[in-house]
Amino acid sequence: MRWKEQLLTLTPYQPGKSIESVKRQYHLDKIVKLASNENPFGCSDKALAVLENSASLALYPDGYATLLREELAAFLDVAENELIFGNGSDNLIQMISRALLHPNASTIMADHTFSQYKHNAVIEGAIIKEVPTINGEHDLEGMLAAIDEQTNLIWVCSPNNPTGTYISEQKLTSFLDKVPEHILVVLDEAYYEYVVAEDYYDSISLTRKYQNLIVLRTFSKIYGLAALRIGYGVACPAIIQALEPAREPFNVNVLGQLAAASALADQEFVERCKEKNRQGLAQFYDFCHKNSLSYYPSQTNFILIDFKVDADQVFQFLLKRGFIVRSGIALGFPTSLRITIGSFEQNEGVLTALEEFLTKNK
Ligand SMILES: *Cc1c(COP(=O)(O)O)cnc(C)c1O
Repeated sequence: MRWKEQLLTLTPYQPGKSIESVKRQYHLDKIVKLASNENPFGCSDKALAVLENSASLALYPDGYATLLREELAAFLDVAENELIFGNGSDNLIQMISRALLHPNASTIMADHTFSQYKHNAVIEGAIIKEVPTINGEHDLEGMLAAIDEQTNLIWVCSPNNPTGTYISEQKLTSFLDKVPEHILVVLDEAYYEYVVAEDYYDSISLTRKYQNLIVLRTFSKIYGLAALRIGYGVACPAIIQALEPAREPFNVNVLGQLAAASALADQEFVERCKEKNRQGLAQFYDFCHKNSLSYYPSQTNFILIDFKVDADQVFQFLLKRGFIVRSGIALGFPTSLRITIGSFEQNEGVLTALEEFLTKNK
């Protein structure tokens, strides 16, 4: 068969190891998964309740996601035509790439950042310009300098996955001021709800000021609904309208729409998770200081820690003890682990195992 050449160079996404497979392989009965930045506290009870008496599964979902759209528009104080929904924000990344990229277009992104920007750009055959991060942060000056005649699309991930670092308001706006208006800037804010930095920007109001900016958020992280696949984009109506034809008609499932709308109404849950996450991060910071390990200060629910040894060695050590984390090797940080912040007990568990690793490998 004559597959697109680009596909032959790609490997499928490697998900973190599944809980079941690790249980079987290592004969363990308790596994703690801290690999995919999921919420250790689950989701709001309100989201669970609505799933119990939910709609008919025989009918197609509402392709306009009317209820969720109304609730989210009110919550964010935006118009309904400033929103677009995706089957996870991964689906929005795909739509945007499909809408703007082709072999004569270039796209700019950080190195290292979320892998799906590059993956989709490769499939579209676009020219990819990766600009190295500096101290885990986007080099926005470098990204501006990479703009050329063919540039259609720039990816900015803040807070950034896998480093956890963020961009300050001043840095972001001075960057946006310099990007030509015909280039779309995607601001991926998957971890927005976890941010505590004082000099963080109000991205939604920036979409008013910059008519070439789209903000991506998700219900997969702090809202704890990763399994239901709901992400959304916020931008001026012209951007949304241009993207809509690239969206599959029924891309957001009915259970996801219902659960997300209910989850949104429970901001107490979100606040509680945000607070517990900061307390959890403090456990990791203490551990790093005590053991003189370097890490990036995080505005997210994960932390990238440098162990100064082959990351897979630490990864395997933890796996045998029932902790699944993310090796930095596939993320561009070959001596680091990316660990999701869990509950207090989960954090204690993984940190105790890591202490043991450090003692044994002195
Ligand atoms: C998790 C994550 C996503 C994907 O989220 P979904 O809505 O589950 O597809 C997108 N961007 C970043 C940076 C992420 O970490």
